[in-house]
Amino acid sequence: MEAIGATTAFIYFLHLYTDILKPEVKERLAPEKYMPFTLIEKEQLTADTSRFRFRVNRPRFDSDQEKLVDEIIASGSWALDVKDHMVQTYRTYTPVHYWVSDKVDEKTGAREGYVDIVVKRYPHGSLSRFLHDTRVGDQVEMRGPLLTWPYKPNQYKHVYMIAGGTGIAPMYQLVDRVLNDPNDTSTKLSLLYGSQSEQDIIYKHQLDKLASEHPDRFEIVYLVDRPPFSGTATKVGNPSKQNIEKFTSRFDETNDIVLVCGPDAMLASVCGSRPINAGQGPLGGVLKELGFSTNVFKF
Ligand SMILES: Cc1cc2nc3c(=O)[nH]c(=O)nc-3n(C[C@H](O)[C@H](O)[C@H](O)COP(=O)(O)OP(=O)(O)OC[C@H]3O[C@@H](n4cnc5c(N)ncnc54)[C@H](O)[C@@H]3O)c2cc1C
Repeated sequence: MEAIGATTAFIYFLHLYTDILKPEVKERLAPEKYMPFTLIEKEQLTADTSRFRFRVNRPRFDSDQEKLVDEIIASGSWALDVKDHMVQTYRTYTPVHYWVSDKVDEKTGAREGYVDIVVKRYPHGSLSRFLHDTRVGDQVEMRGPLLTWPYKPNQYKHVYMIAGGTGIAPMYQLVDRVLNDPNDTSTKLSLLYGSQSEQDIIYKHQLDKLASEHPDRFEIVYLVDRPPFSGTATKVGNPSKQNIEKFTSRFDETNDIVLVCGPDAMLASVCGSRPINAGQGPLGGVLKELGFSTNVFKF
């Protein structure tokens, strides 16, 4: 018995020792400090918006730090701070996809994966211009995951999402999570998504695919500022009072929630502005006029 115990202990310490001896795993997520990540793919989605894929490694060694990363990602909507090291500014972006392989790299003991962010280029936006100028192989500093909205499977009966432009990012992350989580079996999702034109709708193909795979759980209303449009499911308009009233007509205050993410003007008009780094701010705009008082979250 003692011999078995000693052998087990020896094997355990051997594993521990060899893990410690493995080279440090680079490009791993860390909420507390910026780390460089390599851009491995870049895809133009619309005239001014691209998807950026960065390599991410998940160390095998289950340190408290790795557990924290997994815990944050499992706890709800999460984002990454992306930094332009030249001018020391950062912006927060919500990954639309995060994936880690099951295969363990023999040399490092890590599993390789990637994270995708979708970013619109603004003519005067310093961070968005910096990102759009990066090339495959370049490194960009990022920090995260950072929890932006806590969510538990089946927490709400129905989640209503109102998004504008790249404000689709946190909504897409949530829809993808809910519909692909075997423990999240009953949550219904409705998306009211405003874009400038049909060509500016981000991730339409992916959203339509999820909606067609889950017709009883996920529905989308696309709105565009201006025609022409070809899709039967698209109509002209924006998240106005009339459109929101119709969209939320089945809203149940005790079981449902409304999430809003979009440009500042849209936030102000739909639910009242969100003060920078100062919580949610008072509820205002259309949702207040329609009688909403709680269960609204502004991203
Ligand atoms: C937590 C969080 C995460 C974010 N993640 C990302 C990210 O991953 N990537 C990214 O690029 N940005 C991200 N952002 C930034 C934010 O989403 C964008 O700054 C914002 O959505 C700008 O979108 P746009 O320029 O595409 O909108 P626009 O193209 O200017 O507008 C899009 C639509 O919004 C609607 N709209 C605009 N104004 C009004 C109005 N006054 N009334 C009613 N509707 C209106 C219209 O339907 C319009 O077509 C994030 C922000 C937060 C808070």
